[in-house]
Amino acid sequence: MIRAVRVLPSCIGCGVCAYLCPDVFRCGRRARVVGGPEDFAAWEPTLPEIADLCPVLAIEVDRARPRSRARGARPRASRASRS
Ligand code: SF4
Repeated sequence: MIRAVRVLPSCIGCGVCAYLCPDVFRCGRRARVVGGPEDFAAWEPTLPEIADLCPVLAIEVDRARPRSRARGARPRASRASRS
């Protein structure tokens, strides 16, 4: 689940994000987020890809953390970390 989408001040206003995802972004001199949680949910699979396509990586997509493990449970060591 996506909690928030932000456009950083480093945006150069190229318009790619608004072209690809007009429900979430609008672009003038800089892009801004106009969508809300319903739009983030509808575009969830695509938003991280759009963020990767931003030429200056000015889009941040915050995902909700997955449910944590039960309290007290320790992560298992992977084979690669064993020596
Ligand atoms: S793709 Fe990136 S640089 Fe282009 S308008 Fe969107 S946030 Fe700004």
